[in-house]
Amino acid sequence: MAKKQFKAESKRLLDLMIHSIYTHKEIFLREIVSNASDACDKLCYQALTDDSVGLGRKDFKIELKVDRENRLLTVSDNGIGMNREDLENNLGVIASSGSYKFKQEVGDDAKDTDVIGQFGVGFYSAFMVADHISVVTRKYGSDQAFMWQSDGADGYTITECEKETVGTDIIMHIAPDTDDEKYGEFLESWRLQELVRKYSDYIRFPIRMEVSKTKKKEDSPEDKPEYETYTEVETLNSMVPIWQRRKSSVKPEEYNKFYRDKFHDYADPQRVIAVSAEGAVTYKALLFIPGATPFDYYTKDYEKGLQLYSNGVLIMEKCADLLPEHFRFIRGVVDSPDLSLNISRELLQHDRQLKVIAANLEKKIKSELVKLLTEDRAGYETFWKNFGRQLKYGVVGEYGAHKDLLSELLLFYSSTEKKPVTLDEYVSRMKEDQKFIYFAAGETLDKIDRLPQTELLKENGTEILYFTEEADEFCAQVLHAYKEKEFRSVLDQEIEEGAAKRAEEAADAHKAALDFVKEALGDAVKEVKASARLKSHPVCLTAGEGLSFEMEKYFQAVQPDSAIKAERILELNVDHPAFEALENAVTADPEKAKKYASLLYDQALLIAGLPLDDPSGYADLVCELMK
Ligand code: ADP
Ligand code: MG
Repeated sequence: MAKKQFKAESKRLLDLMIHSIYTHKEIFLREIVSNASDACDKLCYQALTDDSVGLGRKDFKIELKVDRENRLLTVSDNGIGMNREDLENNLGVIASSGSYKFKQEVGDDAKDTDVIGQFGVGFYSAFMVADHISVVTRKYGSDQAFMWQSDGADGYTITECEKETVGTDIIMHIAPDTDDEKYGEFLESWRLQELVRKYSDYIRFPIRMEVSKTKKKEDSPEDKPEYETYTEVETLNSMVPIWQRRKSSVKPEEYNKFYRDKFHDYADPQRVIAVSAEGAVTYKALLFIPGATPFDYYTKDYEKGLQLYSNGVLIMEKCADLLPEHFRFIRGVVDSPDLSLNISRELLQHDRQLKVIAANLEKKIKSELVKLLTEDRAGYETFWKNFGRQLKYGVVGEYGAHKDLLSELLLFYSSTEKKPVTLDEYVSRMKEDQKFIYFAAGETLDKIDRLPQTELLKENGTEILYFTEEADEFCAQVLHAYKEKEFRSVLDQEIEEGAAKRAEEAADAHKAALDFVKEALGDAVKEVKASARLKSHPVCLTAGEGLSFEMEKYFQAVQPDSAIKAERILELNVDHPAFEALENAVTADPEKAKKYASLLYDQALLIAGLPLDDPSGYADLVCELMK
């Protein structure tokens, strides 16, 4: 019997497809199972209007069978089946999809069916693992059966054959193993179970396979048990995707278990976000805020992304395009019947739809976080501990493009409330004449609290935000202002009205001593000035405009030989006894006065958490003065 040739372009297409559309060979099973599911769906649809079908939704099934000896893997269904014409049209012409035509014909009724196929290439993916495929099929309503056979690009034959029941068997002869590829794995029952669970878990019909199990022999003794193996037919898929169920019908515990199983987390999610959208793009999404920070979260091993499904069939394990960087901690699934199975990293033909979904999800996640913040403050603080840093990076990243979206979600520790507060809360508590949002950056809350510059402010009850992470200060810089209130560091700038005037008066009165100190320290400091904000401390160091000391430390940490330095301005408390001693020494004993100047400068460095230029010189000086 003459072999029919695939159309020439089909041949090329087949080659192209086998080598480029699919990234993983293993997805062939997903494609064949999806076709079986479509076939069941079609007959199911027919049964709605045709009593003689005699089958209900529950009667349809898909079966996997393995014949290891002959290297055969068979996928059978009791769906609609194909006649000769169908075989010619659907399997003889690549990129012709009977399923697509079916959906067109059914029109509006299509929402009652879950037909997956539409591109007409899925079937051929089986040639990635099989060197010969036979399709034995009998169409519903016909008593003739046919066998379609092909070795791949070479063409196909169709012959009449026997088949007792309606439906289709896809019989794949699995290719021999090579050095690079162990095709034999597709004959292993554990591997097939794994693939069904991975890609086809939510197919609506049961996918069944005989699996072998072991049990204790009944008559073997308890203390010396003997085991025997037996086989049992099992349903491999769980069938109903939890995200397709109405949120009110799912118990919280079910969501938690689904999350833990699916994303391999030991902790329950902190919040579940269920989305059901219809309109320009139809999709369902089930998103989770993890209850704990994944151990690799802040490393480059962590991969962001959502699982992407089309009608319950997995398309992509981690679709990164669905999540913006600032929400990369979200885990979850998105299922849209508008997407095709053949989407892959290389072939994102449905870019536009994905973009719409991603934009909607971003809005949804933001609004859920706002809800968490207002409804469950303690919960939000836990979330903040886990992922707050990510949101700060989000504000700073991409040149501040997302700062407006994220700024109301930020928390910073407050000096007066003694807990993290939002910028809204801070602004609402600002005194009438307060112009700025004050912050102080340092290594720890304690250290900031003890800084000389915060002392006076705290005394008159001014609220200060304490920044202990490097991202905090960058955030303030990128935000610049919140609700039109600018950020201002209390460490680097005089903030009190009238302080400048008092400082000026003090500078005039003590000019000689201040000039002496500047002279003694030389280029180490940019300026030496009288301070109006120190109370019990003799000195403090402030940074000039531009870089702050915390930023300097950050750059030093990431690049130790970096020459980037903040400008140093030494402020002296002219009312302090230490200053008095220095001032007296300037005339009485200039050599000693120089030593005092150096000591005070080193102290200022220590308080600011900056390294001393000459630590042992400092220690010697202290000892010398103690003698
Ligand atoms: P798609 O599923 O995108 O339509 P495929 O290459 O996977 O493309 O399948 C091509 C066509 O072959 C299907 O549309 C369907 O008409 C037919 N077909 C494939 N497998 C079966 C099956 N098990 N039962 C009935 N028809 C099938
Ligand atoms: Mg298909």
